[in-house]
Amino acid sequence: MSVIVVGGGLAGLTAATELVSAGVEVTVLEARDRVGGRTHGIEVAPGNWVDAGAAYLGERHTSLLALLARTGLKTTPTTMAGASTFALNDGRDTSPGRFPPLNAVALGGMFDLLDELVASVRVDAPWLTPNAAELDAMTAAQWARHNLPHPDAQLFFPLFLGEMMAADPADISVLHMAFYLRSGGGVSYLNAFEGGAQEERVAGGAHQVCEVLAAALGDRVRLSDPVRAIHQDADGVTVYAASGELRADRVIVALPPLLADGLEYHPALPAPRASAQTAPGCAVKLHLVYPRPLWREHGLSGWSVSADGPLLSTVDDSPEGGVGVLTGFVTGSEARRFGALTYAEQRAAAFAQARQLFPQLPDPVSFFVTDWVTAEYSRGCYAALFGPGDWMRHGPHLTEPHQRVHWAGTETSTEFFGLMEGAIRSGHRVAAEITAEQH
Ligand SMILES: Cc1cc2nc3c(=O)[nH]c(=O)nc-3n(C[C@H](O)[C@H](O)[C@H](O)COP(=O)(O)OP(=O)(O)OC[C@H]3O[C@@H](n4cnc5c(N)ncnc54)[C@H](O)[C@@H]3O)c2cc1C
Repeated sequence: MSVIVVGGGLAGLTAATELVSAGVEVTVLEARDRVGGRTHGIEVAPGNWVDAGAAYLGERHTSLLALLARTGLKTTPTTMAGASTFALNDGRDTSPGRFPPLNAVALGGMFDLLDELVASVRVDAPWLTPNAAELDAMTAAQWARHNLPHPDAQLFFPLFLGEMMAADPADISVLHMAFYLRSGGGVSYLNAFEGGAQEERVAGGAHQVCEVLAAALGDRVRLSDPVRAIHQDADGVTVYAASGELRADRVIVALPPLLADGLEYHPALPAPRASAQTAPGCAVKLHLVYPRPLWREHGLSGWSVSADGPLLSTVDDSPEGGVGVLTGFVTGSEARRFGALTYAEQRAAAFAQARQLFPQLPDPVSFFVTDWVTAEYSRGCYAALFGPGDWMRHGPHLTEPHQRVHWAGTETSTEFFGLMEGAIRSGHRVAAEITAEQH
């Protein structure tokens, strides 16, 4: 059997690796001049790599951990020692823990409500949740207006969603929010560093996982070869890529839904994979580089949360024993605004905010911007955001093969949707689907 995999991210390369071990003839077509997709490393100082895309993982990310063990890559703990910094109302506060200095009862009530909502969702099939249609018709912004009367909860809710999902609450349905939070292990697990989903990073950068997989696949992986169309006939599939036409018995489309929907299919897809309501998650990731992690010398963790942006949060992502790196996240509608600025304007805005948050520190020695908002071959970062109606319309079809075309990608995984773990699990699922047909 021969299989063409469209997309050389974690999902596509996991599937390709497994199919090759099962004796299948595989070709991976990747649009970019690199593999890895939404994992991407940048070298901010000689030998010091940081994650411009996905970074964090926790102990429940068992498929990713197994892959790291197999590829010989190590993890490093995310550093969270020291006080947090908050700029939520006028001015700046520091506080020993990560809980923001806002009304604790109001925020506790908000998290209780979210926990209740999250527990009510059928994670394996969100569209079968008892009141799914109602939850899918309402946006998270509408939910917050009805359920969060206290101004502190109103203030903090969009910051929480911006950080967890790179989402503007107006862009996602309540069903999607609740599903996403449940799929990732629940609010507490997703939100936590120690013992949670942000506990570790891949030492040297998460991009290495795909690089190692691609190296083992060798010349089965073709870079800079975007696919534009997939035509099926009685005998097989023809894939139209930049380099020409390829034939195979099966195709795996391992792309985010907005991109998968942009390919031309013959016969046409019975149902689209995205709608006008599906939004690309919006994140711009910044790296502020210092000679060493100077904030630690002032008893600070480097973790901060700001209400007025552009940086929603900062976190200490310093490579072990290397330069100091504060990663800044700009998300949601702020990311769209920030992405439109020039590099000089972005740098000036980020430095001004860093001075306000960390007045003890000198300006960074260098500054890097990775804008995922306009990334042609991603369209959705951290992941696609399902808007009102999307789960009810598309949910039941997300993994259903279209004749010889199979689907992978983190957005097809109901476990750890949107995360590296979800992408890898989708790769295992689709490879099993195809090898089962072979027997
Ligand atoms: C800023 C940011 C922060 C994140 N943080 C985390 C985190 O901390 N932890 C975590 O677990 N996850 C995180 N994520 C999410 C994680 O990166 C993704 O869930 C995961 O990498 C998705 O893998 P994938 O294979 O499903 O899709 P992708 O990585 O998007 O792979 C799809 C591939 O297809 C290629 N492609 C696109 N169009 C075509 C075409 N027409 N033809 C051929 N190839 C094409 C793309 O170039 C890409 O390589 C983050 C993502 C971003 C962007």
